[in-house]
Amino acid sequence: MILGATGSIGQSTADVICGAPGLFDVVAVVGGRDVAALARIARQLNAKLAVIADPSAYGALRDELSGSGIETGAGPLAAIDAALRPADLVVGAIAGAAGVEPTHAAVAAGRTVALANKECLVCAGPAFMRTAAAAGATLLPMDSEHNAIFQALGGTDPKSVERMILTASGGPFRTWTRDAIDTATPEQALAHPNWSMGPKITIDSASLMNKGLEVIEAHYIFGVPADRLDVLVHPQSIVHGLVTFSDGAVTAGMAQPDMRVPIAHCLGYPDRVTTNARRLDLAEIGTLTFDRPDFDRFPALRVALEALSHGNGLPTVLNAANEIAVAAFLARECGFRDIARCAEQVCMEFARNGDAREPESIADALALDRAARDCARKFIAMA
Ligand code: NAD
Ligand code: MG
Repeated sequence: MILGATGSIGQSTADVICGAPGLFDVVAVVGGRDVAALARIARQLNAKLAVIADPSAYGALRDELSGSGIETGAGPLAAIDAALRPADLVVGAIAGAAGVEPTHAAVAAGRTVALANKECLVCAGPAFMRTAAAAGATLLPMDSEHNAIFQALGGTDPKSVERMILTASGGPFRTWTRDAIDTATPEQALAHPNWSMGPKITIDSASLMNKGLEVIEAHYIFGVPADRLDVLVHPQSIVHGLVTFSDGAVTAGMAQPDMRVPIAHCLGYPDRVTTNARRLDLAEIGTLTFDRPDFDRFPALRVALEALSHGNGLPTVLNAANEIAVAAFLARECGFRDIARCAEQVCMEFARNGDAREPESIADALALDRAARDCARKFIAMA
């Protein structure tokens, strides 16, 4: 089952599946609004069901798949129904908080969920983790850093870990001045040096908000307190995550920057699936470098870490404000520096007014998400 099948992760997941013929049967594929891409991937994977979240696209999807024998559906409820179809593994690869409800439905049904969608956890982490524990669902981290850390942990209880480090490539603006970054265009921000990804996460990678969201994701998924989580800038994107144990030993998760590696790990877990991802040749790479992040040039990372330390629902607020600001930046309605400003202002407003509380349930989280989006839209309108 692939939620978000037409996106970058969805396509890479399809690649891994097609590279391992006979290993997987695809129960359902769910996409947002790109009918042609969804129909293509449904046929490619011989899925039993294809669901498009945009209800107005139903007719087009039915036409595209007529004669294929693939069942079709449309609308947000059909996406949730698809997520509830019995499956050994659900890949959660919808972008943004739009993924919360269908992914949570699969978790509540006790499925094993390979989670690429970090916004699910940033928006509704406590509720997600509580549901997973109550339903006996397994969450497999598909985000490359978390997957590397999961592998580096090797089954050790995360509570006995002294430190977890997530690496960041530094994005396209790693060496830029603050002024140049502040006035960057969408084209410049979309030109990621190491990874090819969907537009939202690519902008987050340029602002380093992505790393902030990932620290929050790591906090929830591994249950590690914020003060044991750290970020290092590592431009080669070879070491994705590191774990320091209480005896001083450090293990690292390494691979070429290719999402098919963590995807294959989740699809095969606990076995291994063969991929044709480029193999790592450390002698060829020669030098691996690590730096501390610069919060002055990349304020979004600081704002995200502050939201995590503050708690009380601010990660939910942060994520919502960031999604609105990134969409506005891509639509040229605000500047690059307004993304971090918007996230910070909206978080400050909710903290000041006491409007944010740790969401107890998914419904609470989504209500807070909506309120924060409204506040962020006002900020952007004045930016
Ligand atoms: P993308 O924009 O390429 O794809 C997003 C997918 O979500 C598409 O299939 C889209 O149709 C679907 N979608 C959007 N709104 C939807 C809705 N309301 N209902 C159902 N489906 C909807 O994004 P991506 O780069 O594939 O990233 C997906 C998620 O994985 C994000 O949360 C991202 O942070 C995370 N992630 C991505 C990468 C990467 O390399 N691309 C790496 C790590 C984590
Ligand atoms: Mg990542």
